[in-house]
Amino acid sequence: MLRSTPALLLLTLATVLQAQNPSRNTPPPSPVPVLASYPDTPAGKLLKEVKEHAEVVARVEHLADQIGPRLTGSEQLRRAQAWALAEMKKLGAENVHEEAYDFGLAWTRGVDSARLLTQNGLRFRVDQVAWSPATPRAIQGELLLVDARNLEELKAFQGQLKGKILLRSNPFDKRTPLPRRGGGDMASFQAEQSAMTQFLLDEGALAMLSMSGRKNGLGFTTSGPGRDPKKAALPAAFVPQEPYKMLLRQLARKEPVRLELSLGGSFSAKPVQAYNVVGEVRGTEKANEVVIIGGHLDSWDLGTGATDNATGSAVCLEVLRALQATGLKPKRTLRVILWSGEEQGLLGSRAYVEAHKAELDAIQAVLVHDMGTGMVRGFDLQARENARAFMAQAIAPVNDLGVRELPLTIMNGTDHAPFDRAGVPAFAAIQDPVDYFEGTHHSQMDFPDHLQPDQLIQGAQAMAVTAWELLNMEGRLPHGVVARPARPASEAPATTR
Ligand SMILES: [Zn+2]
Repeated sequence: MLRSTPALLLLTLATVLQAQNPSRNTPPPSPVPVLASYPDTPAGKLLKEVKEHAEVVARVEHLADQIGPRLTGSEQLRRAQAWALAEMKKLGAENVHEEAYDFGLAWTRGVDSARLLTQNGLRFRVDQVAWSPATPRAIQGELLLVDARNLEELKAFQGQLKGKILLRSNPFDKRTPLPRRGGGDMASFQAEQSAMTQFLLDEGALAMLSMSGRKNGLGFTTSGPGRDPKKAALPAAFVPQEPYKMLLRQLARKEPVRLELSLGGSFSAKPVQAYNVVGEVRGTEKANEVVIIGGHLDSWDLGTGATDNATGSAVCLEVLRALQATGLKPKRTLRVILWSGEEQGLLGSRAYVEAHKAELDAIQAVLVHDMGTGMVRGFDLQARENARAFMAQAIAPVNDLGVRELPLTIMNGTDHAPFDRAGVPAFAAIQDPVDYFEGTHHSQMDFPDHLQPDQLIQGAQAMAVTAWELLNMEGRLPHGVVARPARPASEAPATTR
């Protein structure tokens, strides 16, 4: 027929092109196991519903492509929250509401730029450290490498810092790392950082550049030393690795290197409130007992926050959708919470735990999905050996989907952590990293291009079924604060399998 001729031609052309370039258009095989059938159980119904009708990718795309980056305190995050409230209502959730907490000043990224005034005159990418002060228009200064790892080493630079733009990190540093101070607790680390910043300001340094932790030209951002504008702070930015290492080579040749730098971020005039979005499916038998699932709706602002953490937010909404579509009613109450302020130090979940101190005993468990698109392999047990039997029971229906791991690992980097520290059994999903820590996390690469739909859907299946089992099991998970060694948040696990 007529219409088939051009279609056939296109097909032939595509086949030829593919044959010429076999490495293209061949995605790596999916690690997600394919189930032959679904058991006729509530878990089986949820698995089938999510697999066949998941809307999780569409919701990530809406958050990322339509609403965009969602810095806490921004109008865009408020739009995302209004959308999430409407979605929860549409998906049959009850008691849908927002809970406010004091956030402090909002911060908006401006235009950042940098160029060399010497050598090759290159213009290169810089990304201002969020909540650091702006430069007063474009500043010019000589570059100086300050590879000081503590205040004592920094004092060696006394008298040399006035009017200088500093390179902070030195990836070519061959010295043995300093031993961890006083058990490595966060408070003493932050006190030392503040003292170093005050020293740099007193000495008249202009700004500080650090190397992006991401490779291949990727930028990076995170929060500055404090979001308190009264606290001493220097204009600061991350530079991708390639231009950063060029600057280091130029300095190593003992050439004078001069830069022009402009960082344009601005603070709001007044402190703002931030909000968590909450919705529930009321339990039929033990409505006062609660299973919380969550992800954070806020994001960084170099990309559109697709994998950090539109994915987790969309997975939680998918759990609501699957319950509505199957008509399944849990015995306990399911509470979905989409946090904010996660990226500034788990502020939303901390505020929630603080505001609901009196009700923490009623929480059966907390599950958080916040490591991008990768498939769920299990949950970190946070050194809660006494939760193992319960969690093993909860993930049993998804073992065949690859959800099997329950290590004792302590993970402190997302919103389950404030609950855990308050004695509530709270667990983060262990996910395959895919491009997360190598790419999308906090960089300008965080777009829906990097979603792996089948893995994200497996994650929604894992969260839906694990939550369902926790909602309906006979027993209750033991509470209690688990003693653990003091280590900084980013440290390796205290205990592993
Ligand atoms: Zn995150």
